[in-house]
Amino acid sequence: MESLELGVRPAAADDDWMDTAACKGLTHLFFPGPAERPQARQRREATARGVCGSCAVQGDCRTFARTHHEYGLWGGESEDERHSAGYRLIAPIGVRARGA
Ligand code: SF4
Repeated sequence: MESLELGVRPAAADDDWMDTAACKGLTHLFFPGPAERPQARQRREATARGVCGSCAVQGDCRTFARTHHEYGLWGGESEDERHSAGYRLIAPIGVRARGA
């Protein structure tokens, strides 16, 4: 069994910022439901971006999503936007080609 040295804190997890996320309880705004239509997606994501706009941890959130290849809207950034910024999804289902 591993013991901790007194006075030495374990390294912070890279998701500690989630404790102060402004989107707690609003998961339905950040991930699409089944068979979501494009217009509904635009409305949902616009509402979610409004929440992100007032969130104190937006930068940490965006970095986390980019690093972990997350799906959904994180840090005010959609899957398409992460993909375009060079942070490729592992299985890019539904990512629209530019100009389509
Ligand atoms: S930036 Fe947006 S998605 Fe990220 S924690 Fe804040 S409200 Fe949630």
